[in-house]
Amino acid sequence: MAREHWSWYEKFNRVVRTFTGPAQLGAGHPEAPDVRRPDAACPLCGAPMTEHVVERSADQHTASRLVCPDPRAA
Ligand SMILES: [Zn+2]
Repeated sequence: MAREHWSWYEKFNRVVRTFTGPAQLGAGHPEAPDVRRPDAACPLCGAPMTEHVVERSADQHTASRLVCPDPRAA
C-alpha cells in the first residue's frame, strides 16, 4: 500500500514540476560572501569576539561552545 501511494506521489510531482519548475534555491537576489569583522561585539556579553574561545568537540555529536571572557579579569 505504501509503495503504491509513493508511486502515485512521484507521478503527481512529475506532472506538477512541468509547470512549476524545480525548487527555488538561494535568497532570491544576488548574494555576497558573509564577511564579518573579527572584533565585532559578542551578542551575549558585548566583548570583542577576538577575546572569546570556541571549544570545538572532536566528534559530530557534541555541540561547539562559545566561552565569553571573564568580565572580572579585565
Ligand atoms: Zn561573549
